[in-house]
Amino acid sequence: MQTHLNLKGLVIRETAFQDADKIIDLLTEDGIRTVRARSARKPGSKYAAVTQLFSYGDFCLRCSGDRLFLDSAVSLNLFFGIRNDLDALALASYFSELIRNTVTNQPQPQILRLYLLALHHLSEHSRPLPQVKSVFELRLMTELGMMPNLVCCQECMTYLPKHPVLRVRFADFVCRECREIADNHDIPATEAVLLAARHVVFTEFDRLFQFRLKGKSADLFAQYTEQYVLHRLGMHFPTLDFYHAQCNPQSDD
Ligand SMILES: [Zn+2]
Repeated sequence: MQTHLNLKGLVIRETAFQDADKIIDLLTEDGIRTVRARSARKPGSKYAAVTQLFSYGDFCLRCSGDRLFLDSAVSLNLFFGIRNDLDALALASYFSELIRNTVTNQPQPQILRLYLLALHHLSEHSRPLPQVKSVFELRLMTELGMMPNLVCCQECMTYLPKHPVLRVRFADFVCRECREIADNHDIPATEAVLLAARHVVFTEFDRLFQFRLKGKSADLFAQYTEQYVLHRLGMHFPTLDFYHAQCNPQSDD
């Protein structure tokens, strides 16, 4: 019987437990693992940092029955740039909530890779936050097997219509001229939005964040990916409300 386990993981939740322990949820290539880290909250604990939320590390775990305990750990990336930026922190927390609600214990190495890439861009401030959010949302859905069909118009097979309408409810798109019945969840989009959505769904991870959208197209893309997640998953995410309150506070005047 295996008594020790070595794995790389990203802390997606930390909870205080008893006097000085912590329970952490690690996102690994094999899904989520829950681990008890004894004494990690004691002043001066050498595992205080690596067991923090959004830390990526190499963990050595001890198995006891069906429970896992932290034996030792080495930090690989603490993503410092997220920790002093409340907007980035709010977005990273939303990503974490999305993952906790969708990822199972099955091997899904691409989801860990996606989250690490997104945290890198949040930490380095190398992409606008709404772009990081949209890429994460749409690619996560793709990796979870809920990819929209964006190959061509569902009615006339046109590849790139001037006025595509992205249909959240049907997970596809049609040309404006081909749409027979309007739906509240439809996003009347632009060529640029359709191209960006295709890029996120189909491209390799190395190039995933390498595109630019501006103005109205950027807003429509953000609207589309968020609606797509909320509608397909049928869930409510308090961390998403917090992100919007933090980044787009409503003006009273
Ligand atoms: Zn059409």
